[in-house]
Amino acid sequence: METTSPWVIVGVDNGGTSNNATILDGSGRFLVDRLVETPSRVQEGPEVAIDAMAQALDNVLELTATPPKAVRGVGLDTPGPASADGVISSKGATNFAQPAWRGFDVRGALEARLGLPVVYNNDANAAALYAHHVRFGPKAAGHSSISAIVGTGLGGGVIEGGRIVRGAAGMAGELGHVQIPMHGLLAEGQPLPVCNCGFVGDAESVASLTGIEKNLLPYWLTRFENHELGRVGSLKQAAKLVRAYGEQDDPLALRIFEQQAMAIGRLFTIAANYSDPDTYFLGGGVVETTPKFRQWFLATVREPTALREEQARVATFALVPDLDMAGARGAAIAALEALQAPVRVRTSL
Ligand SMILES: [Zn+2]
Repeated sequence: METTSPWVIVGVDNGGTSNNATILDGSGRFLVDRLVETPSRVQEGPEVAIDAMAQALDNVLELTATPPKAVRGVGLDTPGPASADGVISSKGATNFAQPAWRGFDVRGALEARLGLPVVYNNDANAAALYAHHVRFGPKAAGHSSISAIVGTGLGGGVIEGGRIVRGAAGMAGELGHVQIPMHGLLAEGQPLPVCNCGFVGDAESVASLTGIEKNLLPYWLTRFENHELGRVGSLKQAAKLVRAYGEQDDPLALRIFEQQAMAIGRLFTIAANYSDPDTYFLGGGVVETTPKFRQWFLATVREPTALREEQARVATFALVPDLDMAGARGAAIAALEALQAPVRVRTSL
């Protein structure tokens, strides 16, 4: 039998409805191979939600018969926007609608509740870190990658030398709000897409569920009159159905996904010139689909990504693995790295 590390890190991926928890031991091995979900209760406000996170931790410890004393720290991820150290945006956030969440220090509150160090990341950064580690294993520190995660919005993560690039204000890797060229992407007469952030023509304004609802679907319904999606009660509902139509090779849905793929390809082209990563990862709802559609979409992203010959020889395009567990696992890896090797350089005069 393998020697088990005497201490562990718990990863908690906080979502709109559930917390998913995992356990990573000090040797880098996950003790849980599936989703371990409990209600997140974020709609009930911070106090209830922090308790729910503590329960998620207790639950996964019990499930794996891990003694609470073995926990050295916790990796937490939530959807943004939040600061690099886990303070929810003062403007609030989609998942954190209650006013009490505005400016709430979710990391600090969980740390105080548990009496354990808590390391925070946003969900896209956590998933990006996990994808990177799965791909490069022990060589993670020698490689770089970029992840675009297409869901309600377009999340992103930039990993350099095996570590999350956070930025001065914690806002690095917000790939959704990078503006991309729209020329040749939009069809004739198609209005410039607008993002919730206020930008015109950024990647999220096209490559997200919100982009389908607000920008792509309203236009394409005018080009495919009498399409069934035009008879669905609301654009919000219809937008969610587009992927299922795409899986059936529906022409309207395919136009929408081609535009999304081109937007991501153009985003990756910017990345190629900016940081030249080893791997370009694609994840999110858009690839939680049939293998055929997933591969078609990945190839359709690869095609408009303009790499130099030297880059094309070494770069790879891949899907974020184990997507539903990627957040919790990446959060745990980030905490393990942060807590395992505390480097504190002291300079004295
Ligand atoms: Zn934006």
